[in-house]
Amino acid sequence: MSADIGVTGLAVMGANLARNLARNGYTVSLHNRSVERTDALLEAHGSEGEFVRTESLVQLVESLERPRRVLIMVKAGAPVDAVIDDLLPLLDEGDIVIDAGNSFFEETRRREERLREKGLHFVGVGVSGGEEGALNGPSIMPGGSEESYRTLGPMLEKIAADYHGEPCCTWVGTDGAGHYVKMVHNGIEYADMQVIGEAHDLMRSLAGLEPAAQGEVFREWNTTDLASYLIEITAEVLEHEDERTGRPLVDVIVDSAGQKGTGRWTAISALEVGSPVTAIAESVFARSISSQRELRAETNRVFSDGVDSTAADEEFGPEFVEDVRKALYASKLVAYAQGMDMLVAAGEEFGWDLDLKEIASLWRAGCIIRADLLDTIMKAFDGESSRLPKNLLLAEEFTEALNECLPAWRRVVAAAAEHGVPAPVFSSSLAYYDSLRRDRLPAALTQGLRDYFGAHTYQRTDVEGTFHTLWSGDRGEVEA
Ligand code: NDP
Repeated sequence: MSADIGVTGLAVMGANLARNLARNGYTVSLHNRSVERTDALLEAHGSEGEFVRTESLVQLVESLERPRRVLIMVKAGAPVDAVIDDLLPLLDEGDIVIDAGNSFFEETRRREERLREKGLHFVGVGVSGGEEGALNGPSIMPGGSEESYRTLGPMLEKIAADYHGEPCCTWVGTDGAGHYVKMVHNGIEYADMQVIGEAHDLMRSLAGLEPAAQGEVFREWNTTDLASYLIEITAEVLEHEDERTGRPLVDVIVDSAGQKGTGRWTAISALEVGSPVTAIAESVFARSISSQRELRAETNRVFSDGVDSTAADEEFGPEFVEDVRKALYASKLVAYAQGMDMLVAAGEEFGWDLDLKEIASLWRAGCIIRADLLDTIMKAFDGESSRLPKNLLLAEEFTEALNECLPAWRRVVAAAAEHGVPAPVFSSSLAYYDSLRRDRLPAALTQGLRDYFGAHTYQRTDVEGTFHTLWSGDRGEVEA
């Protein structure tokens, strides 16, 4: 029997994607470097669909119908190149190699070019939703050639998450575009979690709301325009009582957040394409600060915890909680606006014609940032490109909401600063918004200083041209 697709790399993600494919009626050839994983998968789940057991890449390739489709799901980095090296001599023109792991988009671009030169398709696919999503329907963001999507697309769409009958999968753009979009998704995920954390801290530190009570608040918020998977599970985590101590589990967990790198990649790439993703970058830095446990302990010893615990409860009652909800919504909107802007900048840099409406549609189910808000974002980016808003904050769907949130957002940021509760994304998002709307920025002075010490020149508001002031001479102005 010839198989529709081969999967190599059968750890949790590869195994679950293979099962998802088989459950959807595809015959799936299985391969793993160590055959024990293949056998374990067949033993536990072999009855879920049609599988072909193989022990080598040669057998895997021989078992596939043409054009062959080989899905690589091994550890990201050098192992992907090692598998590609082994596969290349076995494949023929037109075959499709798919990397659905968390590869860095530049590596995907490099691999795509390498395989394209040999007449093969290389498709970097962003997959979000963790192991559960891989099994039951992830959000899928495929890159690679449009031609490869004609054969591969229907398969991916069949195993993708379903949002009211629509698959959360569509071709996003050439070479590394799929992995790039997944990376930005993860960046937004960082910001989404950070703003939730800031809301939690403010409600705890200032309004005195214990985790279980906050669980109820988040449950209530999940019926508002904040409705999302992350808000839903926040309620569950906050309400969870630790079996060992009887305390809220969140109070027992070490307050040091890990990171696997995609948030950092997003921030680095944003710096490279010149896109100000302050919410994402601040979220990455917030995790870094949380990890500096020794330094934090020492600083706490020297300066003590800065939070003013004498803040009167009445000052931070239910109205404050509602203010926090609005600050959270506005900051979250900024994170999405910045992420979308970054995609546009990257599209220009790397030659991708990214469709923001389509991208928002992919994130509506199966992935971690799934949220009702994405439907509204789709509406904001619907229509002819020349008529789309320059930034999500300018979309008519959001301008009124932002105006309504603004006073609350300012009150929350002010209260955080006054009482010593760190709220880096709430405050930097507000600064971003204020910077965008400002008539003039102090960048004029920056240009003056740059011209003073480095003759970097400046432009004038009243006359065309580039100018330099002779700061060390007679201070007259010359045209540069
Ligand atoms: P791992 O990242 O733990 O990788 C283990 C797999 O890679 C095993 O099958 C292993 O084979 C294989 N492998 C490692 N080195 C080599 C090599 N040199 N040659 C051949 N095979 C090798 O697996 P996961 O399932 O956790 O993740 C797979 C990919 O999916 C990764 O890119 C990961 O980052 C990504 N991922 C994505 C998630 C998401 O939500 N989208 C969540 C988790 C992971 P062996 O059994 O022989 O050791």
